[in-house]
Amino acid sequence: MPGFEVFGDEEKKEVMSVFDTGVLFRYEFAEQRRGIYKVREFEERFAAYCGAKYAQAVTSGTAALKVAMAALGIGPGDEVITQGFTFVATWEAIFAAGAVPVFTEIDDTLNMDPADLAKKITSKTKLIIPVHMLGSAARIEAIKAVGAKHGIPVLEDTAQAPGASINGKKMGSFGVCGTFSFDPVKTMTTGEGGMIITDDEDLWRNMSEYHDHGHDHAEKPGGRGADGRRFIGFNYRMMELQGAIGLAQLAKLDDIIAAQKKNKAKMRAVVSRLAGVTFRKQLDETGDSATFLAFLLPTAKQAVKVNKTLAENGAGAVYFAANSWHYYPEWEHLLASSTVAKNGWPFKTPVGKRRVIYAPDLLPQSAKILDRTLVYQVPVILSDERLAQITAAVEAV
Ligand SMILES: *Cc1c(COP(=O)(O)O)cnc(C)c1O
Repeated sequence: MPGFEVFGDEEKKEVMSVFDTGVLFRYEFAEQRRGIYKVREFEERFAAYCGAKYAQAVTSGTAALKVAMAALGIGPGDEVITQGFTFVATWEAIFAAGAVPVFTEIDDTLNMDPADLAKKITSKTKLIIPVHMLGSAARIEAIKAVGAKHGIPVLEDTAQAPGASINGKKMGSFGVCGTFSFDPVKTMTTGEGGMIITDDEDLWRNMSEYHDHGHDHAEKPGGRGADGRRFIGFNYRMMELQGAIGLAQLAKLDDIIAAQKKNKAKMRAVVSRLAGVTFRKQLDETGDSATFLAFLLPTAKQAVKVNKTLAENGAGAVYFAANSWHYYPEWEHLLASSTVAKNGWPFKTPVGKRRVIYAPDLLPQSAKILDRTLVYQVPVILSDERLAQITAAVEAV
């Protein structure tokens, strides 16, 4: 999935044009910047690419989740539902918003199971966050239908699936908003960075103001210092350098995905030779961003054994069932209520409030799926040598 594989002159040229003005800040400096607004331009192009009306750039994908939740009015006492197979950032952001994460099972898409989601809604549920893991879509329409039934909005964590789609509609544009990450290992990268897209102007305004200390960004004499404030904000501003890299990377995104699709097809043909292998469910094969190839063996025992042989032959796959950053039972710090807060927040809240407990065996259906799943990252550039190595490893199995 990494956009860094295709770094080149385009990124350098974009970055140098920022140094030529010397303006690293996305706001103000009207004279020095000579009309160059990289972050703003990146937002406009990213929104257009995704088919959304508005985009808000921020410092990371985690910040994107935090800013979106702040703008949606999520706070202490609220429950936010996400899936038990995701990067830790999704639920870190829920805690950071003061809310409590509730975890659903995954289904054959390796994403949120809408049936389990329906069971986990309570009177406290204020937001649903499906995650389009490993480059392809969750059952977003079914998830939205569950939310709509209870009047609960859906935020799509699209950090791992920029450019993915269902029937031509980009992931991230189905929910009330969608968040993206441009960290160093994502499909397109700005080093660090994130984005939120939405069609809701009021929501976007909340994001824009919250992410910049509450600045109302109204045109007026006196500039920034004279800005008004509607509420207390924070600082999650993206730098012009990141905006510049983002523009160059976004221009390459469709080519990145096209290259990954070709490489994924080659890798899949090889992996298909494993006895009893099946593949992760794709809702729309053409909309897959093809960043990963996920395949399932008939039993957990077989998956572990197959992966051992693959690894011994230089082509080990990721076994997410044992991955400590992406899978609920492996989040020992969550299960143990480990927090840096001296008063035990958010797990040991004061008397009268709920104590939050996460049982290790909460998600048996997810275990049945992930225990059998192996995952290869699909590179943008796949050498003949690497493909031959994977082929030899599969033959060894
Ligand atoms: C990478 C990622 C994030 C967080 O993005 P950062 O930019 O690293 O903060 C959030 N959610 C998912 C699913 C991710 O993969």
